[in-house]
Amino acid sequence: MIGIYGGTFDPVHFGHLRTALEIREIFAATEMRLVPSARPPHREQPAVSVAMRVEMLHAALDGHPGLVVDTRELDRAGPSYMIDTLASIRSEVGAEEPLLLCIGCDAFLQLQSWHRWRQLFDHAHIVVITRPGWRHEALVPFYQGRLADAVETLQTTACGRLLFQQVTRLEISATRIREIIAEGKDPGFLLPDAVLAIIAEHRLYR
Ligand code: ATP
Repeated sequence: MIGIYGGTFDPVHFGHLRTALEIREIFAATEMRLVPSARPPHREQPAVSVAMRVEMLHAALDGHPGLVVDTRELDRAGPSYMIDTLASIRSEVGAEEPLLLCIGCDAFLQLQSWHRWRQLFDHAHIVVITRPGWRHEALVPFYQGRLADAVETLQTTACGRLLFQQVTRLEISATRIREIIAEGKDPGFLLPDAVLAIIAEHRLYR
């Protein structure tokens, strides 16, 4: 199984990293690929260039061989649609390999606005990272037949299922980190020191 975790990572922080690590362990994935969005279709464009966001990701993942940066969205023109990314990874790994697309509950609430969202399930399973007390029942009818309640179900099939999974919740957001830096305050202990060093060196988010 290969996990896929997309985001702007502007900048990457411990909320992303801890989630990626725990999902890899829970699903016994061979690797988790963090996929920086070059041109996110659904939000303001990132504050920092994709090259710099990739550099921060590499620094953050150094020493964690199971977590890797996948830069394929840099090589495509136009909006960075996840469906294109999944299709591209699927074509490389073959039909049998389980693929696991990880999204936060905020992203899940928007899923039906994603480009060709139904076809995401033709290539991957989707795991939604939930928080305690988060209610998703209202959305479940859209996914009848896809809902799984066991990790094994996803490990033994290549794609097509949906699972809600809790991980250690760290209330960190990149938005707040950018605000802290812009206010001249210290974002220490919210993201790795190696990432902070890059931010300081290039005076990012000021
Ligand atoms: P921003 O504040 O700029 O929107 P963000 O911190 O939400 O950024 P993104 O790069 O937009 O980070 O998110 C990538 C993915 O990580 C999304 O699926 C999002 O739901 C998830 N995510 C964001 N913050 C956390 C967190 N603290 N814990 C777990 N997952 C998170």
